[in-house]
Amino acid sequence: MARVYNFSAGPSVLPEVVLKQAAEEMLDYKGSGMSVMEMSHRSKVFDNIIKEAEQDLRDLMEIPDNYKVLFLQGGASQQFAAIPMNLMKNGVADYIITGQWAKKAYEEAKKYGKVNAIASSADKTFSYIPDCSDLPIDEDADYVYICHNNTIYGTTFKKLPNTKGKILVADMSSDILSQPVNVSDYGLIYFGVQKNVGPAGVVVVIIREDLIRDDVMPFTPTMLKYKTQADNDSLYNTPPCYGIYICGLVFKWVKAMGGLSAMKIHNEKKAAILYDFLDSSEMFKGTVVKEDRSLMNVPFVTGNEELDAKFVKEATAAGFVNLKGHRTVGGMRASIYNAMPIEGVEKLVEFMKKFEEENK
Ligand SMILES: *Cc1c(COP(=O)(O)O)cnc(C)c1O
Repeated sequence: MARVYNFSAGPSVLPEVVLKQAAEEMLDYKGSGMSVMEMSHRSKVFDNIIKEAEQDLRDLMEIPDNYKVLFLQGGASQQFAAIPMNLMKNGVADYIITGQWAKKAYEEAKKYGKVNAIASSADKTFSYIPDCSDLPIDEDADYVYICHNNTIYGTTFKKLPNTKGKILVADMSSDILSQPVNVSDYGLIYFGVQKNVGPAGVVVVIIREDLIRDDVMPFTPTMLKYKTQADNDSLYNTPPCYGIYICGLVFKWVKAMGGLSAMKIHNEKKAAILYDFLDSSEMFKGTVVKEDRSLMNVPFVTGNEELDAKFVKEATAAGFVNLKGHRTVGGMRASIYNAMPIEGVEKLVEFMKKFEEENK
């Protein structure tokens, strides 16, 4: 068996112990005589799986009792529409545009109301987080929207925007469970799980109960109405059962790693190895301003496209895969999610040093 070091931005690396456990339980989940893929979502066995997954996530994130946790489908992108349909009462929302995912969410929301782009870092290819301490928040805004960690550009909010009392909504697809979160700072947090938690096909929504309403936009599809999903404990229809099961295993793994505070220390240590090298290298450079660097996604360039391509090719051959940068940034990107072991980053840096030496 040859496992590579997988730096993919998503779907991405999962903990090896989780994959092994899933393999062991593949044919016979806990004496049920069947795989989780084969069982009814209404069975007692699956009920335990989804309830335990929810409880473990609640424990990890210390989710207050007045928040619901929903396991849904449609990926993060489906939420770009669900959020305005469900949360717009006045038909107004403010968006902070820090990258492509925020921009897509903003464009989608425009279909449903008056949507203001109140800040943006598009002027410098999204390489920083704009100052959000005193933004022109619309008096009628139903919520303020951010993408908490910008997967493509490698920036992250170290300080939340001042929403002037408005509800904060956050896409945490690429940094969920990487560090502690104060859930009460948000009205709604959501994440597609395929970056840091599980297989694509599940999106988790953590929503304050008072924001779950019946009087949503009248054309809201039944499936996209949070109330439908909340009233049915995410079992209105068949949920992505197997994906939820894997998420549950990953939640247990994060618990065993010491929870989110320990995860943060681990991630900071890992990211520092790479950032310290980028700061000292003559060849490789990080593309993001230091203050706003992500712990999860690290874009970097050599400044020479041919050399970038040569690096990606040789790295791949050496077992460091999926390092090619996003097409809008170019260069390279190392996504170093929770499940990337520290040796993966250490060995990558060793490889980069060697490459630099050989290509002076
Ligand atoms: C990957 C990603 C998305 C899109 O996720 P899908 O599940 O493919 O819709 C949205 N937001 C962020 C921050 C992401 O990293």
